[in-house]
Amino acid sequence: MIAGSIQKITGPVVVAEGMTGAKMYDVVRVGAYGLMGEVIRLESDRATIQVYEDTSGLMVGDVVESTEGPLMVELGPGLLSSIYDGVQRPLPEIAKTGDFIARGTVVSALDREKLWKFTPSVEPGTTVVPGDILGTIPEGQTIIHKVMVPPKVSGKVVTVLPVGEYNIDTAVATLEDGTKIGMTQRWPVRQGRPYAKKLDPTTPFITGMRILDTFFPIALGGNAIIPGGFGTGKTVTQQSLAKWADVDIIVYVGCGERGNEMTEVLTEFPQLDDPKTGAPLMDRTVLVANTSNMPVAAREASIYVGATLAEFYRDMGYNVAMMADSTSRWGEALREISGRLEEMPGEEGYPAYLATRLAAFYERSGRVQALGSETDRLGSVTMVGAVSPAGGDMSEPMTQNSLRVTGAFWALDTSLAHRRHFPAISWTKSYTLYMGQVRGWFESNVASDWLAFRDRAMFLLQKETELQEIVQLVGPDALPESEKIILEVARMLREDFLQQFAFDAVDAYCPPKKGYWLLKTIMAFHDAAIGALNRGVSLRQILQLPLSDEIAQLKTTPHEEALAKMPKLCGRIAEDIAGIEVL
Ligand code: ADP
Ligand code: MG
Repeated sequence: MIAGSIQKITGPVVVAEGMTGAKMYDVVRVGAYGLMGEVIRLESDRATIQVYEDTSGLMVGDVVESTEGPLMVELGPGLLSSIYDGVQRPLPEIAKTGDFIARGTVVSALDREKLWKFTPSVEPGTTVVPGDILGTIPEGQTIIHKVMVPPKVSGKVVTVLPVGEYNIDTAVATLEDGTKIGMTQRWPVRQGRPYAKKLDPTTPFITGMRILDTFFPIALGGNAIIPGGFGTGKTVTQQSLAKWADVDIIVYVGCGERGNEMTEVLTEFPQLDDPKTGAPLMDRTVLVANTSNMPVAAREASIYVGATLAEFYRDMGYNVAMMADSTSRWGEALREISGRLEEMPGEEGYPAYLATRLAAFYERSGRVQALGSETDRLGSVTMVGAVSPAGGDMSEPMTQNSLRVTGAFWALDTSLAHRRHFPAISWTKSYTLYMGQVRGWFESNVASDWLAFRDRAMFLLQKETELQEIVQLVGPDALPESEKIILEVARMLREDFLQQFAFDAVDAYCPPKKGYWLLKTIMAFHDAAIGALNRGVSLRQILQLPLSDEIAQLKTTPHEEALAKMPKLCGRIAEDIAGIEVL
């Protein structure tokens, strides 16, 4: 056994001597309570350890024991609907030990008693390879859990469980060489799970948010960051995605900014229904929450735990989305630990390896062909990380380093949030690198001229920004009518298209087709108005028609009804405006 004793304690960082044989990232148990920690530096027999739990009361000389393995998670049925802390301890279970987590608590991540209905998918005699599915288990009402052959295991099946109800510790199959395969596997969280091959992402990650789906879409298997100052809507956006995004599974990692924000998630999510199936939302969700009394080191662990859980369901062939709110709290943890280690600081005190860590994390997103003999089992992990730059200053290192390694930048704008334009996502600062990959999907599934309408809308909004500068100098009256109409249409785009109230029963989710038709309707107004202005009709006459009110109501009109209405409305807009007589 590798065991030493504490030589020095500084906050969450402990130095232990006598640790000969310990390895980097091995999990250790520290002191009489057996606090959980991880080796983050080794020099001869001295190990520096980041401790995931409150270190108060530890003393020099206290024992430190290595578990001689890295931080692992247990993967198996029962993950969905679970709420874990940063090191995969189920919060409801550990809450039984008191309101605050008793330090050093060891609790099984999965319920060991619960019986699961298992149906085999292989027969004795089948040769299996890593990733092959041995059987299936309904997990919750909507997701079929697939019991997979773990990486590195293969051989001929000699026995397999018949249909029946079993707990997770039952061996599902035995191979010729005697290897028993269980319902669960363990995996080191810092290591990405293997897959057969990485594929190009081509299908969009449909969010139901118009500005994202139309202007800045990402692909399933892509990644994006949502940077924004305090109160700009990071959490509301992440939660909207968790409820509405068109994926099978959600892994939501809360590195709470404020204690009560995480509490909100923990109390609210379990009560929500999945808007698409009506089943509880938690049936397809795993929450990983950093509790307020867990020190900074656990934030990093929670990010890796989340990524590993996401990859596990990806391997079953599901589209998984991982939300991390907020990655800045993880960055701060890295900064604090690095400071305690007296490492050479990089920018603003963040460690020089911040960029590498962020890159390694976002690289775990992707669309893949899963391991196994089936070649058509495709899965994806889409990652969306919130970033909280202090004061909304996006030149700070977390934002800058994150944007370098991610494919889309959904920038929240403080002034939009102040004006209560929600979602406060800036259409001038945001961007996506996925347009080329996903436009084909929109063109075949929404409309062949989808991109043209998107580009026209973007152009008008840009034009508005330029015109507003002129208006500020010379006043609106100095603009010709042909430019005033641009301001009017841009206003419609902002208010009737981009603004979307996350808590509206209808408008919380907008299907891509409805988004397209909204744009098309606004553009029909634009085109007809330009035509009329050219005939000598005045803008005032056009605006007197009640059309803009009708357009404004579309987004909160139930989708089917609105979709039925809009093609006719486009025609009527053209006719009514063409019918205006020149005075
Ligand atoms: P952050 O996490 O960036 O600090 P929040 O997500 O908590 O900010 O949002 C702050 C407030 O802004 C919310 O309580 C809500 O009132 C408002 N808000 C943000 N986004 C939206 C939205 N899409 N629809 C409606 N209200 C929103
Ligand atoms: Mg927040």
